[in-house]
Amino acid sequence: MAFADRLNHVETSAIRELFKLLGKPGIISFAGGFPDSAMFDVGGIREATSRALAEEPGGALQYGATEGYQPLREQLSAFMAAKGAQGVAPDNLIVTTGSQQALDLLGKTLISPGDKVIVEGPTFLATIQCFRLYGAELISAPIDGQGVKTDALEALIAEHKPKFVYLIPTFGNPSGALLSAERRKAVLEMAVRHQTLIVEDDPYGDLYFGDAPPPSLLGLSASVPGSRELLVHCGSLSKVLSPGLRVGWMIAPPELLAKATMCKQFSDAHTSTFAQATAAQYLKAGRMPATLAHVRQVYAERAQAMGDALRRELGDAIDFVPPQGGLFIWARLTGAGGKVADGNVFAKRAIDKGVAFVPGTPFYCAHPDHATLRLSFATADVDKIREGVARLGQAL
Ligand code: PMP
Repeated sequence: MAFADRLNHVETSAIRELFKLLGKPGIISFAGGFPDSAMFDVGGIREATSRALAEEPGGALQYGATEGYQPLREQLSAFMAAKGAQGVAPDNLIVTTGSQQALDLLGKTLISPGDKVIVEGPTFLATIQCFRLYGAELISAPIDGQGVKTDALEALIAEHKPKFVYLIPTFGNPSGALLSAERRKAVLEMAVRHQTLIVEDDPYGDLYFGDAPPPSLLGLSASVPGSRELLVHCGSLSKVLSPGLRVGWMIAPPELLAKATMCKQFSDAHTSTFAQATAAQYLKAGRMPATLAHVRQVYAERAQAMGDALRRELGDAIDFVPPQGGLFIWARLTGAGGKVADGNVFAKRAIDKGVAFVPGTPFYCAHPDHATLRLSFATADVDKIREGVARLGQAL
């Protein structure tokens, strides 16, 4: 078959190959990037579904507006306000088929072949693939335990004049890092100084373990004049409620939102009205705060258990910053005592011992750090986590 030239820029993800091995019996997996199915609020979703069908069968089952189902847009506007982002009117957001679609729409509307886009090194793998599909030249901005290094980011913006900068400031995938309040402000100020568009991808911000994180870039933009017009914010119900619903949203300046809506028309016409009506009923019923409290508590326990076990079983052979939220521990093999120092080698040895994780290299668009790896603590319970990390210790 003769495929489009744009496919020359991308390969299927290295992670997919690894996932094929996960079917082996007895494997404990820290590899997935998804929430625990055991925590889905099935009763709440069932009720929301019944109410959607009883109260608004036409809206829930008919074609709908590309921008999204209006009652859901209203609920999401209130949800954002409750999270500290005031002044997001329902018309300032569109509902997307997962936040993944928002990323695709940004690629479609903003990236011409050869355009430069700055992303964190490391960043979400599907973003790398998606932006490359549109021909972006990706530039990697370094991070540390507090997220992207803002001095380095500003130097890269000045040098490359990117089309936009893509960041996951809160409990990033894969880094788990939380961008500090000072750095958030610095990002917004540099956006204004350089008139650079910033995309904030925020599917994990609600999954904090202790104190709430600093406000999102969107929430903070009110305090940095001129920054709101340069900000895109992508949200999602996937990690907090259900990824299968495929409900995400994008908040963006009106001009960009209009172009993205046009592209969405050609793509899927609209996000499932049934899923949107269900999500709207769920939010309207006021169940979200209890759901969030529950998932935060369970993930906090699992993150703690995994961190403790890593220290106990792997000692100085591994280094990581304990995450304050999200789904991941991002770690680095130190090679101490002659132990394995390459994440890919370690991943293969770990599979032989019956435990899986994702090596860090695919998450970099350039200059990969081969010693890194991503461990998800979301889907295994505390006993499985302890057993899995003990196996990791044997694989060193
Ligand atoms: N952004 C990030 C950083 C993610 O980790 C994910 C899911 N793994 C997504 C976007 C996409 O999520 P969804 O399409 O389910 O909202």
